[in-house]
Amino acid sequence: MTAASRSWREEGQLIGFVPTMGALHEGHLSLVRAASQECDRVVVSIFVNPLQFGPGEDFERYPRDLDGDRNLLEEAGCDVVFTSEADQLYPPGFSTYVVNDELGRRMEGEVRPGHFRGVLTVVAKLFHIVAPDLTYFGQKDAQQAVLIRRMVTDLHFPVEVRVMPIVRDVDGLALSSRNAFLSREGRGRAVSLSRGLENARSSFASGERRAAALTAAARETMERQEGVSIDYVVCVCAEDLRPVERCDRPALLLIAARVEGVRLIDNLVLSAGEADGRAEAPRKEPS
Ligand code: AMP
Repeated sequence: MTAASRSWREEGQLIGFVPTMGALHEGHLSLVRAASQECDRVVVSIFVNPLQFGPGEDFERYPRDLDGDRNLLEEAGCDVVFTSEADQLYPPGFSTYVVNDELGRRMEGEVRPGHFRGVLTVVAKLFHIVAPDLTYFGQKDAQQAVLIRRMVTDLHFPVEVRVMPIVRDVDGLALSSRNAFLSREGRGRAVSLSRGLENARSSFASGERRAAALTAAARETMERQEGVSIDYVVCVCAEDLRPVERCDRPALLLIAARVEGVRLIDNLVLSAGEADGRAEAPRKEPS
């Protein structure tokens, strides 16, 4: 991978990189398509990273479908799929980690201790291996996107980070590899997350700026749906993820819940210019 990347760079080709854990869906593919519009070469990594799963989480049963993924990636414009065995990325003696104590302990980090240490460490390693010019992440994992941007700035990675909008199913449910674990009934229940966000969005659009009222709008919808167990519903500053009382500046409404034991997250961007909740669009026109 490193040799390929080096020779592309020598030829002046722009390298785009999309890190994933596989079991790909349209959300992942939207990142790959964005990369292939902007870059000459697109690398997608597929690696279910054991380091970002806690004990008792779903590492073992996380969906895996390498052959299916390869076919989807070829059509979406990916040039190279990078995969690795865990013991190659983490050989005996591995003991250096990337940690963000400030942003990595709240919300997802609080519910899943060590999760972001695993994410940042593997992404830092993959950035070194792939050496991309641009890298693409999904707004679906909003806290992760903020942490990646922070790491890139703090550790001087020479890569530009793009964060792409959440891709949803027609009923509003944010696409996620974990949706495959839901029964038909559970899937119906899970839609209450995006419905809750939709309520908060209408409330925001009609001028509500109090975080407590906006989170209540989302929470009430989720609480009305039986079988949905809420982990958190919070409004935080879009830049530093600190809880806010008012959403006058760009903020995020982050939610996490469990349905049939499956952990689901979703979010809404609360910004006067972006009241439709979309993340930033790609900055460059397709060539
Ligand atoms: P994962 O395979 O879950 O680690 O996700 C790989 C990348 O795809 C991450 O940057 C995710 O934020 C992104 N992603 C996952 N689901 C979606 C979605 N529904 N819409 C947009 N991006 C997504």
